[in-house]
This record gives sequence, structure tokens and C-alpha cells, in this order.
Amino acid sequence: MNSAPPGAITPATRLIALLGDPVSHSLSPRFQNAAFRAAGVDGVYLALRCSGADVPGLLRGIARAGGGGNVTVPHKAVAAESVELRTSAVERTGACNTFWLEDGKVCGDNTDVAGVRAAIRALIGDPAGARVLLVGAGGAARGAVAALLDDDVASIHLLNRTPARARDLVEAFPEGSALGIVTGVAELRGERFDLVINATSVGLHPGDPLPFEFDTVGGVGAALDLVYAPGETRWVREARAAGIPAADGIEMLLHQGAAAFERWWSRPAPLEVMRAALS
Ligand code: NAP
Repeated sequence: MNSAPPGAITPATRLIALLGDPVSHSLSPRFQNAAFRAAGVDGVYLALRCSGADVPGLLRGIARAGGGGNVTVPHKAVAAESVELRTSAVERTGACNTFWLEDGKVCGDNTDVAGVRAAIRALIGDPAGARVLLVGAGGAARGAVAALLDDDVASIHLLNRTPARARDLVEAFPEGSALGIVTGVAELRGERFDLVINATSVGLHPGDPLPFEFDTVGGVGAALDLVYAPGETRWVREARAAGIPAADGIEMLLHQGAAAFERWWSRPAPLEVMRAALS
């Protein structure tokens, strides 16, 4: 008989760990522990700052001991190499942000793809047929490309500071005939986009420049920033001031976390509890 009070840590409690460096800024412990309490599951979510060299051992050890977790910057690629079974989201993006044990195998998913897909839908509805400008070509941009291709957008114009990285991204998506590289904003003059996505890390810090100036193109239907910051990002505020509907990265964070919860606990995530814990 289990006589422990609700929420107590017991020998049966599962460790769900966030592996990354840094992790001190992460909102995941706050909203995942709120979700665990609300759902009545016996787990605790802890952030572990660790080196990339330690990721394979930590990830496999925690999963084999009955736990699971998330992986954040800069360890998502090493995590993708470390898991034994990969979802197609991991295969396509080369990144793993969620791990757990299933049938004795350490499994990995990239729930950033589901997260960005839900954030796009929350902002503009079904993006099928949309013309999208994607700024950035790192891991977050790869997740966005996977989601946008799955949703049959008409085109994705990819703009990145380092052209070689944009070329690497395009090569990683051989199915992406809708995907094309833009070498500079001058190429975009007069063009109209249904959606512009900031997938760079510009905007994380208060003094950052804008990742993209809206008046360099002919028109923007909506702006989605994957970055989030207290009080929203300057780019989101600038978009709204220009009359463009906009959202920051909180919605993506929420939905990638909800999808991860479902991998660990095989039940629906308490989305509204998680949303409230983020506000
Ligand atoms: P990453 O792989 O390191 O890629 C960073 C991207 O930002 C690259 O395209 C890089 O361009 C660009 N960049 C960095 N500094 C720049 C600058 N000064 N000017 C222009 N471009 C610059 O990082 P990531 O994993 O893709 O993450 C990017 C951001 O997405 C993160 O900072 C995070 O805020 C956000 N994110 C949010 C969520 C969420 O749940 N909301 C999830 C994942 C990521 P180069 O190729 O030229 O270096």
C-alpha cells in the first residue's frame, strides 16, 4: 500500500531530466512539474547542466533507470546520435529534444516539430498554400521546415546570415521542392509573405537588433518569433506596432512540452495547467 502523501518523492518517482548548457533560464521545470502535479503522475522534472560528452551516458542511464527527459541547446544533435530508436522528426532534423524508454529501447523524438506546427496554426490557422519567409537555418529552423513541408505550404524562402548553413539545411530536406535560399533582403523587395518566422537566436538579449525589418518586403501577413523573452520580444512588439499579427516562442515551448509529456506518460498533457504555469 502506498501511504505517501500526494506529490511526495518516493522510490517509485520517475526522474525526468532536462540536459543542456545553460539550463538555468529554462521554464520547463516550472511548467512540467505543474503538469505532473495536475495529472497526478509520479515524476519530478529537474534541469541538469552537463557537457556534450556526458549526454550519451546520462540519457541512456536515466531512460534505463525508468526515467526520461528533454535535451536543449547545444546537445540536441548529440542526443539524436545517442538514442536507439528515432522518430521521423529526429531523422529529418538531426535533432532530438525528448527521450524515454520503450520496449527496452531508448527512444528519441524532436517535439519542436509538433511545437512549431501548433504555434503556426495558433497564429494563422492551416498554413497550406502559404508563402513563408524563414529567417535562420539552425536547429529551430529545421524543425520549422519539417512542420511547414508537412502542412503543404506553397513556398519557404530561407534567409540566413551564413549561406553555407542555409545550403546544408536545404540538402537535409530532399523532399523540399518548396524550399529556396535567399541570399539577401534586396532579393525580397516588393515580395509579399503570409508568414515570417524568426528562427535565429537574435532577440534573446535586450540589446539585440531586430532579426528582420518588416519594411524590407512588400507585405507581411503574420510574424512568428521562436524566441521568447520576458514581456515578449522587441520583434513581436514591432510587428504589432506595424499592424501585423504576431506571437513569440511561448506557444511553441508549450506545445513541444505537451508532446514530450505525452511520450513520457502515455496520456494527454494538461495543456491549460501548463499554459497557466508559463504566464
Ligand atoms: P542554432 O542552431 O544555434 O541556430 C542559430 C541561428 O541564429 C542560426 O541561423 C544563426 O545564423 C542565427 N544567428 C545567431 N546570431 C545571429 C546574428 N547576430 N545575426 C543573424 N543571425 C544570427 O540555434 P537554434 O537551436 O536553431 O535556436 C534558435 C533560437 O530558437 C533559440 O535561441 C531559441 O530562442 C529559439 N527556440 C525556441 C524554441 C521554443 O520552444 N520556443 C525551441 C527551440 C529554439 P548563422 O548560421 O549565420 O550562425
